[in-house]
Amino acid sequence: MDLENRVVVVTGGARGIGLAVARRCLASGATVDLWDRDAAAITALLRAQDGARGLTGRVVDVTDLAAVERAADDTRAQHGRIDVLVNNAGFAGSTVPLERYDPEEWRRIVEVNLIGVFHCCRAVVGDMKAHGYGRVVNVASLAGKEGTPNASAYSAAKAGVIALTKSLGKELARTGVLVNCIAPAAVDTEILAQMSDQHVATMIAKSPMQRLGRVEEVAALVAWLASAECSFNTGAVFDLSGGRATY
Ligand code: NAD
Repeated sequence: MDLENRVVVVTGGARGIGLAVARRCLASGATVDLWDRDAAAITALLRAQDGARGLTGRVVDVTDLAAVERAADDTRAQHGRIDVLVNNAGFAGSTVPLERYDPEEWRRIVEVNLIGVFHCCRAVVGDMKAHGYGRVVNVASLAGKEGTPNASAYSAAKAGVIALTKSLGKELARTGVLVNCIAPAAVDTEILAQMSDQHVATMIAKSPMQRLGRVEEVAALVAWLASAECSFNTGAVFDLSGGRATY
């Protein structure tokens, strides 16, 4: 994928899908700025990358609008602009029936997975519009299309990400800024540790390919959506589900 001279921000980029996206973008010639709330992981990554071209990072909690705005300013000050925003930060939370869901945790899941996407888009797309070019890739989930039982907050938040993508995609359709999202089924990352073994086994059993997705498979699609080659898609949802998604 050609991302030469592009500046890519990946939220939640310190591990898992976000880190794989960052690596794929770096390999495609981009400068990548990681925004993650995990300070230790960001520091370790930047230290390991010492001397390597193109990787920077900062500590940001996407639920904090002021922190997101500061990060956007700092990234633009360091790299000149932001061409691509990958809204990937997220977490699944507990898998429990709705009536037993802790209200605070329910709220936090929506704050991180949905309102965090709003904050980052709000801080970045105005400048993209002004430059007449941008790519926003939101990481939703198959849960947002299907509604996963015992994951009401996560499903609702990811459905919100899909709707936000469609709305913003239409809003910006004539500006050169394209907004798309992906809807992966279960992918092999640390997030699965937040779910019960039975929940993960059920997700694998539902997949026609009968396996988890790999982070590199997700990164390949995101890299294309982040590139100029993606040019007639906006407000669209791209499945990554081993054949499970049927609409
Ligand atoms: P992960 O837990 O491996 O990594 C998530 C990263 O996001 C971590 O580095 C974490 O520190 C960061 N993060 C969490 N909350 C944050 C916040 N408030 N501010 C900034 N950073 C924050 O998870 P993953 O599996 O790589 O998931 C990445 C994205 O993919 C998430 O949005 C997730 O919902 C989505 N997704 C994952 C799967 C899957 O099965 N792994 C499936 C569908 C969608």
